[in-house]
Amino acid sequence: MPGTLLFTNATIVTLGETPEVIRNGAMWVENGKIRGFGASEEVLALAPPLARLDLQGKILMPGQINSHDHLYSAFARGIAMKDEAPANFLQILQRLWWRLDQALTSEDVYLSALLGFTEAVFRGVTTVVDHHASPAVIDGSLDRLAEASLQVGLRACLCYETSDRHGEGGARQGVAENLRFARHCESLRDHRLTAALGLHASITVDPATLKLALKEWPAEVPVHVHVAEDMCDVEHSLRTYSRPPLQRLLEDGLQDRPVWAAHCIHLQPHEKELLAKHSVTVMHNPRSNMNNAVGCAPVQEFIQLGVSVALGTDGMSQDPSEDARSLAVIHKHQAGDPRGFDWNNIYRVAFLEPARLASQRFGRLLGEIALGAEADLMVLEYDPPTPLTGGNFLGHWLFGMGTAPVWGTWVAGDCVFFKGQVAGIDVADLKLRCRTAAEKLWERW
Ligand SMILES: [Zn+2]
Repeated sequence: MPGTLLFTNATIVTLGETPEVIRNGAMWVENGKIRGFGASEEVLALAPPLARLDLQGKILMPGQINSHDHLYSAFARGIAMKDEAPANFLQILQRLWWRLDQALTSEDVYLSALLGFTEAVFRGVTTVVDHHASPAVIDGSLDRLAEASLQVGLRACLCYETSDRHGEGGARQGVAENLRFARHCESLRDHRLTAALGLHASITVDPATLKLALKEWPAEVPVHVHVAEDMCDVEHSLRTYSRPPLQRLLEDGLQDRPVWAAHCIHLQPHEKELLAKHSVTVMHNPRSNMNNAVGCAPVQEFIQLGVSVALGTDGMSQDPSEDARSLAVIHKHQAGDPRGFDWNNIYRVAFLEPARLASQRFGRLLGEIALGAEADLMVLEYDPPTPLTGGNFLGHWLFGMGTAPVWGTWVAGDCVFFKGQVAGIDVADLKLRCRTAAEKLWERW
């Protein structure tokens, strides 16, 4: 039966509000859900006879969740810039990302997504929230990403990055693609696939496009948008709308909707209150922010105000554990104080909030080991060299466990990655196809 098996001889790390470590544990998974877990003898006494997988003491824990990604960026790896090195964020967009996304073909979109999802399950990722752009091939682009995600077998929440970069026609196509794909997901009813409304950022979305995008968009489905990533977004909004970008977006249509706002680095003081008031979720991407030298979001302050902050990679890689490590150091560095970021808040941003966000969007319990939760799991080859407990899990994660080899990844109890192999995908052949496509892209971008 699909999604049904019994893990034995596991070191279970539950995550959730109060993480626990269960040694010599077992887990009974049936029809994709966790039906029982705990001490081996107790679980084995209750579970029906199922196919068993002996983990020989390896770590069994929830799969990683990436709250903000850009899979289309995959072919930028190793690319040579065609102009002078960008001196600021707007130039990074103009000289790298807006040139690259414009050159993407439908096949590039599919291959870069297939590569990204493959790399994700290699690192134990079971859910990816993506924000996609390919202005030359907008119509149907989200289908290509969905094709890749279903082929790999992990969960994906997809959207198209609507913007006015390519005039009214491009904006209309972006709006239509989001709506078409959201309706497609509704009719498909695959529990691994869902949609959001993608908007690039205030700087590239004019009032008419914002209005059009929200016109038919269902009020309960999130809007995924970049906010105040750099001062250029803020300066443009103040100049054009006489209000900073978050205030402008909320007042002009987003205030009664679920909003996922990536970055939020340069908010004005009153906008921080707006985050809490309107239950905006902030996607925090510390490595990308450092790489673009755009600043450090005041995450600790957001959390103190009651704002949800979830960790993403922003396309830097497909491994959120790398961002968890950056999260743990950037805020201390920024504060010039080793106490600059509360330990509990690191855990909240890296684990609890991504799990909450994904659970809400996919309508099922994700990101923790609990009865009835989805069996979205990874197995790590990590033999702790110091005592491992629920209380010190995060210390292990940040300083060794997060980089440990992933032995296997399961989504709803189905194995998608096992001992270096992704089910149904010839990874060497995929990389060859990607190299060929990237070489062509690099010639024409
Ligand atoms: Zn982003």
